[in-house]
Amino acid sequence: MRISIENFTKAFGTTTVIKDMSLEINSGEMLALLGPSGCGKSTTLFAICGIHRMNSGRLLFGERDVTRISSQQRNVGVVFQNYALYPHMNVFDNIAFPLKVRRDTRADIERKVKDIADLVHIGELLHRKPAELSGGQQQRVALARALVREPDILLLDEPLANLDAKLRLEMRSEIRRIQQQTGITAVLVTHDQVEAMSMCDRIAIMDQGKIMQLSSPKEMYEDPSSDFVAGFLGNPP
Ligand code: ADP
Ligand code: MG
Repeated sequence: MRISIENFTKAFGTTTVIKDMSLEINSGEMLALLGPSGCGKSTTLFAICGIHRMNSGRLLFGERDVTRISSQQRNVGVVFQNYALYPHMNVFDNIAFPLKVRRDTRADIERKVKDIADLVHIGELLHRKPAELSGGQQQRVALARALVREPDILLLDEPLANLDAKLRLEMRSEIRRIQQQTGITAVLVTHDQVEAMSMCDRIAIMDQGKIMQLSSPKEMYEDPSSDFVAGFLGNPP
């Protein structure tokens, strides 16, 4: 589903952290919000999923204006840096939770949980508790839980930051595979330029609440529009 952010402004108290941002995210693409810590990436993501209200601006999912729609009614799946799995529930119940809240039937829940668990390759782990899983496996559970309701949009906030280097490499390609297999529109927040470059169709690079450049990874690397972008990508002019 296409996401349109129009003239988005966000302030905390007297500090404006997002300044008149406009951004179109194409249906089916994976877009990175890339930039240094504090530039406003998570704030933008929270506005898309409805955790934060926008001070001004409009947000559209496809043709639907969701600016004033509650987060529950936006049909968005979210994965945060700390996966926040329920420690007392096994993997099946963790994934099933959003469906139980929605009061799906037992048979539907069984089928949907199994299907999504197979897609993210944790079909064998459904009876384990989160503490019995590796970091990568926990992250797969979090992804399955975010995807099980078949959301229109998947939002990922620094999902790889807590993984060691080897797992991070593996999960980069796994997240990309899952995004492409489901065809879901995805937004990945990261401060890691290599992650953005290797996983995403396009990158919106941010600094101090503004988008500095929006382009494909290749174009951004070969033709950075400013010294900031070049410097951040580690390819100074
Ligand atoms: P990023 O995700 O790019 O690291 P954030 O979007 O979390 O950055 O934060 C952008 C700016 O907004 C930072 O200066 C941060 O301190 C500030 N900020 C974020 N959330 C809040 C909040 N709830 N209250 C006050 N300031 C906030
Ligand atoms: Mg953040």
